[in-house]
Amino acid sequence: MKRSSSNSGTSSSTVTPESVGLSGYPVQIVSVGDEHSFQLEEQNLRAILNKNGVKNKPVVIVSVAGAFRKGKSFLLNFFIRYLNYVMQSENHSDYGWLDDESMALGGFSWRGGAERETTGILMWSEPFLMRTEGGEEVAVLLLDTQGAFDNKSTVKECATIFALSTMLSSIQVYNLHSNIQENDLQHLQLFTEYGKLATSDVSDVKPFQSLLFLVRDWSYPYDYEYGIEGGNQLLGTFLELSPTQHEELQLLREHIRSCFETIDCYLMPHPGLGVATNPRFDGRLSDVEVLFKEHLAQLVPQLLNQENLIIKEISGNKVTAQGLVEYFKVYMEIFKG
Ligand code: GDP
Ligand code: MG
Repeated sequence: MKRSSSNSGTSSSTVTPESVGLSGYPVQIVSVGDEHSFQLEEQNLRAILNKNGVKNKPVVIVSVAGAFRKGKSFLLNFFIRYLNYVMQSENHSDYGWLDDESMALGGFSWRGGAERETTGILMWSEPFLMRTEGGEEVAVLLLDTQGAFDNKSTVKECATIFALSTMLSSIQVYNLHSNIQENDLQHLQLFTEYGKLATSDVSDVKPFQSLLFLVRDWSYPYDYEYGIEGGNQLLGTFLELSPTQHEELQLLREHIRSCFETIDCYLMPHPGLGVATNPRFDGRLSDVEVLFKEHLAQLVPQLLNQENLIIKEISGNKVTAQGLVEYFKVYMEIFKG
């Protein structure tokens, strides 16, 4: 299985997965070629999904998407840290997963430079075997995606990556900086229109599962508190339909609601200047603001503890690891050309 080769460069990216004791690594599963063509790295994907003990398990797929250099890969690495901790701890407890303050943060390549790190879609090489609350064993898979709407990519390329990762995930985290804005909703509409066309399903099952708007560096806690409650209040004001709204805005909101089974929003505090600006920052928690850590401790289990795992379903059927390969192929075909 080929590793993603984007793990070179400066500062934080010198934290390799091995150097922090991780056995997995990022693997390119969808790549973007010249002229913005997409390619499925089928061998890489099969190497992850057809492992013994994994292939027959239903999958939980968590993806993080949004503009580039907004802390997506950084956050995903806390998902890895959480899942590893829970799998290795006695009774699969998550108690104390953030206690080690001096551990560097490894996993998907993340950093502060201006170069884009991730192109296309990457998957973490190690599926995490977890049990749902109902006792069912599932494989949790993590997806990192290319930044949407940055200078190097066309709108179509971004829409494709976002649509594909939304179609293939059970939880899509839409990572936004500082606030939700009308054009974030418009982008979302474009991305999901694209995906909805591809999944055209006659049943009344909503095409996608769970969407989390994750607002980073939220700075109005006096208007809406940090966390999910404040986030959902803010989101409510955004998705609200009102008779005075222009019809276009109403349709946009109805469309977004019709696409996802659940939509939430989480307001995340700023992690501190050490994280945002120090070129030597290696991800250790001792350099991160306390409030941010408190919210990591809330947010990550809210997505990944056993009560909250969402099994991937397509048209109402649970998807297994092995079955996922076929869906990838079908969806990639649709987006070709
Ligand atoms: P990605 O391109 O969205 O995957 O972004 P990265 O995860 O590579 O992070 C880009 C930079 O943002 C790194 O220097 C991180 O230290 C920093 N960073 C991570 N999380 C946050 C956050 O919540 N707020 C701010 N301001 N910076 C962050
Ligand atoms: Mg990244």
